[in-house]
This record gives sequence, C-alpha cells and structure tokens, in this order.
Amino acid sequence: PDVAPDLTSAWRARVERDPDGDALLHDGRVWSARELDEAADALAAALREAGIGPGDRVGILLQNVPTAVVTLLAAWRCGAIVPLLNPMYHGRELHHLLADSGARILVIDPELADVAAAAAEDTQVEAIWSDGDLPTSAAGTAESEGTASPDAAPDDVALLTYTSGTTGPPKGAMNTHGNVLAAAQATASWMDLGPEDRVLCVAPIFHITGAVITLMAPLLAGSCVVLIGRTTPEAVAHAFAHDGVTSTTGSITVFNGLARLDDLSSDDFPHVRHLFSGGAPVPATTVTRFRDTYGHYIHNIYGMTETSSACIGVPPGVEAPVDAATGALAIGLPLPGTDVRIVSPDGATLAPGEPGELEISGPSVVPGYWDNPDATADTFVEGALRTGDGALMDEDGWVYIVDRLKDQINTSGYKVWPREVEDVLLAHPAVHECAVVGVPDDYRGEAVVAYAVLTGGDGDVPSITAEELREHARGELAAYKVPRQVHLIPELPKTPTGKIRRRELRESGADPEADTDPVT
Ligand code: ATP
Ligand code: MG
Repeated sequence: PDVAPDLTSAWRARVERDPDGDALLHDGRVWSARELDEAADALAAALREAGIGPGDRVGILLQNVPTAVVTLLAAWRCGAIVPLLNPMYHGRELHHLLADSGARILVIDPELADVAAAAAEDTQVEAIWSDGDLPTSAAGTAESEGTASPDAAPDDVALLTYTSGTTGPPKGAMNTHGNVLAAAQATASWMDLGPEDRVLCVAPIFHITGAVITLMAPLLAGSCVVLIGRTTPEAVAHAFAHDGVTSTTGSITVFNGLARLDDLSSDDFPHVRHLFSGGAPVPATTVTRFRDTYGHYIHNIYGMTETSSACIGVPPGVEAPVDAATGALAIGLPLPGTDVRIVSPDGATLAPGEPGELEISGPSVVPGYWDNPDATADTFVEGALRTGDGALMDEDGWVYIVDRLKDQINTSGYKVWPREVEDVLLAHPAVHECAVVGVPDDYRGEAVVAYAVLTGGDGDVPSITAEELREHARGELAAYKVPRQVHLIPELPKTPTGKIRRRELRESGADPEADTDPVT
C-alpha cells in the first residue's frame, strides 16, 4: 500500500483514485469523494481566516452527521488537532473537556448552542459554529489555497479522543496522524474493505471506534460510509435493509437491540459480508444466538482509545475459539503491526495460558495523554501500553480478556471475575443482559451482586424470579461466586459507547442486609 505520511495526503490519494465514487451516504443524500473534499476545502479556508493553524484545536460536538467528517478533513488540512467531544456531555463535564483541550473553535449541533455557550465560559473557545450555519471564507477557497499549511508530519497530533471514563475521569489520548493511519490501514486491510463496501458508522464519531474503524478506515480504503442520525434499532435495521450496508462495527448493545426487534429475520441483512462488535465484552451466548437466528456471526474486536481503535480481532470468516474453563470468547488475534504480551506486575512475559495484564505496542499506540504526564507515566512503559485489562493468550496466539483488573471482586478472600458469573447468568434464556459487581460488605469485604435485565415480551421465554436465577447460578458456579443478591432491573446504566457503568451499580445502594445467607 502507498505510504502517506499524514491523513490529509492519504485522503487526497483516495479522492484522486476515484473522485466520483460514493464516499458518504446520509439521510438519502450521497456525497462523492470530490464533494466531500470541496466542502472540506471551503471550511478549511474559513478556519484559516479565523486564525486556525498548525497545533490549534478545533473541537467537534456533533452527532454522526456529514459536518463531523467535513470538519475533521478541514481541520487536518490546516494542521489543527481535533478534540472529539461527546454531545451528550453538558455543564461541568463539557466545560472540563473544553478547558482541558484548549479548543479555540467549536463546531456543534445547532440544538446544543446554549449548552455549548455556557460550557465555553472561561475557556479558550473564541467561536462556536453551528452545523447548517457554518461561516464561509470571504476570500473564497481558491485564494486561501496559497496560504495552505504544509502537510502534517506523522508525529503531529490529529485527534484528541477521550477515554470512555469507565474506570475514572476520561483522559485525552493524543492520536497522531501516524497512529490513526496505521490503525485505519490495518483495519481496512484486515476487514478487506474496498470500493464495493458500504460501512455503517453506527458507533459515535466522538469515540475512537466510530472515528477510525467505521469512518477513516473505510474512507481511506475507498468505501462509502453510511451515517445514520439516531442509532435506534429500527434505524440500524433500516440501514441494513435499504442502504446496501456490507459491514459494520458496533457495541454489543447494537446487536442486542436488533435481536429485540419483532419482525427481523435473516433476510434483513441482504448485503452483509461481516459484522464486528467491540468496545466491551462480547458474550459467547449472544454471538451464538445471533448467528443461529440471523445467519451472521459477530466477530469480536478489541480496541482502546489509546490504540487508536482496533488492535486485536477475530478474522473475518473465522469463528473465535471459546475458553474451555470460563466459556469466554476469544477477543481475537493481533492485527497486523500490533505486538501483544501478557505481563506480570513486574513486566515479565507470562507463558501461554497464564493470566496477567494485556500489554500492547505498535504504530497505533498513542505517545501519551494530553497534558497529563502522571497518567502517561502510569500507563505507558517504554512506549508499550499497559491496558489495565486482565488477559491470557493460548498456545495459538488467541487472546482472551479475563476482565478489567479493577473489576475483580474479592469476597472473603476469594477472587471472582465478574465476566465468568455474567456468562453463566446470560446462558439462561430469560436473561437479556446482566452485570455483576462487588459491593462493600462488612462481613466478606466485598459481596458478589448481580443486576439482570430479563428478555421479557416473548411468550416462549419463561419469566424468572431473582431467587430462581440464583438457583441457576448455584448449579454452575462455586458457592462463593454465586451472587448474594440478584436485582432484576429494566435497564443497565451504560456509557454512550455501550459500556456498563459498574461504578454506578456499585454505588447504587444495593442493600447488603438483603441476603443473610451464611458465608460459604
Ligand atoms: P477509561 O479508560 O476512561 O476507564 P475505557 O477504558 O472504557 O475508559 P475505551 O478506550 O473506550 O475506554 O475502552 C477500552 C476498553 O474497553 C478496553 O481496555 C477493554 O476493557 C474494553 N474492551 C474493548 N473491546 C473489548 C472486547 N472486545 N472485549 C472485552 N473488552 C473490551
Ligand atoms: Mg481505558
């Protein structure tokens, strides 16, 4: 493949290869590569007139709309860095990210005008531009070309992407041009994306999964990206049935949502080649149910904000092995260019089958966190990323996530991995989703507590009580792993990227007195 040093030249190479090919489909409108490029030129001219140059920050506070794509391309050709901001954030959360990133210009959804203006107070934000009402260059695009900044270098920062905030406050990862290019190109070749593909961008563009796996990877590979405004299950199903979607990567929630639709059948994915799910654990039972019902296997894919998206995945056309001991699905094999080690706390490489911390290195690993030397020093060891995920690798190189190291439960001195208990609960046909957490317990240190959402609705599925679910777990698990309490709730709290907010569950006041079984 041609080696472009930065995202702008890689994008331009695609435009030159096939200027009239479809690049974006949104709301019934198709954008050719040339049209997108011209829109980016026009916005870049306006950005330059506003004084934006190399290293300046141009923030995006947008849903998945074409302007998000145009702003990325425009900012990069000015040499600017794009902080991707979550449009669901507001108030203090948003203010913190604006102050942290030092964004000078903010491109927003029009309905967020008040929220953005309030959050921008006492920050470096100079102007807020609303989608649908973006400024145009007074001089025109052509003239401003003369003042165009030189292309970025591979080590220049392209994106500031904030981690999901699952284990603490979000941190801003500095994804360089080289990082994003490496991840996008590895993903595209691994997924075999080309001009015939239409990739549904269902993950948010403000998250690295949306921005790289389902946006920049297909755009640079010559594919067409399908953007949908709201990611309701109905809208996702509609895109599969009517927009020619051949591939997507979504959180498991997206596939769970589809599986809950009444009339969906295998006929409703007429053009699909491959489906991928990542960002959070992908339960084996969900994958099997989906394959048996709709005929498509969901390929697990693992990635982090700090690895500029995908770095480990189950290759298209291959079904992942399942760990015999835990029933967990492998997250995959390292993508081309990624090196994986399982390490002990002192950094020694562990033997196959031994659980330790997953460590990742390669060209997509970011150099560190924005303005956060302490977190950088804690997380990166000689350029390698300590993921904070407990994992093991088998003899054949398949990687399994055991759990987040921080989520491990210690009950009466016994270590319990939530995943194992969750997989057992999920294997019950009445359970749609569940989460297992450790809550403080005077007697045991921590108690295993489960929250479950039942399938419901469907007459074939037996409804179940909390006690029956504990009984089911008792049949499968050592006594200390069986949840002391099971709470049946209508919905699990999730981050915008589909991860379960365990901290919220832990703090949601599960009553430690609710179950007085003797310790086992
Ligand atoms: P924070 O770092 O702020 O706590 P986060 O780690 O959830 O948030 P992301 O970078 O969005 O933020 O997510 C990366 C994490 O998601 C990984 O470290 C891993 O725990 C989890 N993850 C991603 N893909 C998978 C997968 N396929 N299976 C299991 N876990 C996954
Ligand atoms: Mg993280």
